[in-house]
Amino acid sequence: MLEKRVALVTGASRGIGKAIAQELAGDGIYVVLNCSAHADAAEAAAEEIRQAGGEAEAVPFSVDDETQVKEAVDGILARLGRIDILVNNAGITRDGLLMMMKPKDFEDVMRVNLFGTYYCTKAVIRQMVKRRIGRIVNISSISGIMGNAGQANYSASKAGIIGFTKAVAREMAGRNITVNAIAPGFIDTDMTRAMSAELREKAAAQIPVGHFGTPEDVARAVSFLVSEDSGYITGQVLAVDGGMSM
Ligand code: NAP
Repeated sequence: MLEKRVALVTGASRGIGKAIAQELAGDGIYVVLNCSAHADAAEAAAEEIRQAGGEAEAVPFSVDDETQVKEAVDGILARLGRIDILVNNAGITRDGLLMMMKPKDFEDVMRVNLFGTYYCTKAVIRQMVKRRIGRIVNISSISGIMGNAGQANYSASKAGIIGFTKAVAREMAGRNITVNAIAPGFIDTDMTRAMSAELREKAAAQIPVGHFGTPEDVARAVSFLVSEDSGYITGQVLAVDGGMSM
């Protein structure tokens, strides 16, 4: 079994997931970077970490496919012997007003964001229970707390993640496994760069600190929630949103 702690970060080929992987590697954790479509980008991100002196590898699989998740997690466990930390970060949007929203757009978002979180958590949890150690951080969104027009599917998936987090936190509390969620506000990544300039300006005007956050702002919060210091914190939702949801 590997000596150092091992973290699996889903959706780590870019944006928030990549920043989380870099931050955890900087904390001395062996990081497995997952993504689905852009395996080259995840491999490049893992190489960047190795070049900086950290330890990392890329393992592509789609979080919305239970068989792929199970096979990938079993493979990691066979090679490294442990997964101490799971960050369920992979997420997608298929925005549109409810009256126009197609069932497929609702289903795809639920499958990746919510089912993906369930599949990955289920796949890692047994060995955490056996070893009586674990840290799980689920990336929700302020859309799951406040709702957001044009995001009924996404808001439902992210609110679902909050309920899931609290239920699993209660199940695992006696086993030295903490389960928390982070609810980012508007963070500057490809996901928010897809918004029009007008929408981005409107969004920034709603943020008390006056600007979008960075992926590193989220990554530092994850670093704390997976650290030894956070063992008495479980079932919580930490908003990293420049004060937007207060
Ligand atoms: P992003 O730049 O679009 O990156 C999304 C990541 O998820 C990519 O690495 C993508 O990789 C991966 N992914 C997508 N579908 C996947 C699948 N089926 N299996 C595995 N990986 C998959 O998004 P981001 O802005 O960094 O967001 C990261 C998380 O934060 C998401 O859960 C998002 O909902 C949440 N969040 C973001 C913001 C924001 O303002 N940016 C705010 C609140 C919450 P591939 O494309 O290679 O598969």
